[in-house]
Amino acid sequence: MSLDGFHHLRREVWKTFVDLIFPVNCRGCGKKLGYDDISSGFICLDCWKKIPIHRPPYCRRCGHPSGDLFHDKCPECKKLKKVYFRFARGVSSYSGLLRETLHRFKYRYQTELGTPLSEMMKDYYLSSNDYGPIDRIIPVPLHPIRFREREFNQAEILARPLAEALKVPLDIKTLYRTRYNPPQMTLDSKARFENVQGLFAASNPDMIRNQRILLIDDVMTTGATVNACARTLMEEGASEVYVLVLARGD
Ligand SMILES: [Zn+2]
Ligand SMILES: [Zn+2]
Repeated sequence: MSLDGFHHLRREVWKTFVDLIFPVNCRGCGKKLGYDDISSGFICLDCWKKIPIHRPPYCRRCGHPSGDLFHDKCPECKKLKKVYFRFARGVSSYSGLLRETLHRFKYRYQTELGTPLSEMMKDYYLSSNDYGPIDRIIPVPLHPIRFREREFNQAEILARPLAEALKVPLDIKTLYRTRYNPPQMTLDSKARFENVQGLFAASNPDMIRNQRILLIDDVMTTGATVNACARTLMEEGASEVYVLVLARGD
């Protein structure tokens, strides 16, 4: 038997073995998954495809699904007072299977989910006609304490394949958090805006001056966090900030 044949046989035996002793069901529809499906985070391809991609109508500025098309009338934009990003888009809404999957990725450390989720983000961006050219991608940073707890920044993982596809730098150094603060999820809407006051700073403004920046995060709800990031970037000299999140909350 050739070496290739041997490797193929070994793989087939291993697949059968895994399927037998390690039966796994899709977390979306419950159907039994085979060895090949395990790499997509225990969710079958059909379920991945069923996650609804955001389509208009949504607010052209903040991307909110029930927002007014003309952002000067959008109640979500009004809450931000001044909007520092050019516009924000969410790949899908923060609900159903996507919400559950993001939760497992972030809080149960199922990092293998980063692959299909980041591919979803990349595909959305590449098929969108909204975005202009960009020079740099910046994931919303975690505080070093939270990074140590989690050992990864979900926004950075989500941004990586897109940065590679666009051949632009993935900048994880310039933007940083000035303090350790409570997670936005634990706060009501008003407190979320206060919580992010002066929260971000740029370590080296030369890296962002005159740059068109794509800011990436996993979830956007009120927009307070991404707007605070965009404010810092614009005040430090960026020429444009666009926002892309995987899940746009209502
Ligand atoms: Zn399924
Ligand atoms: Zn809006």
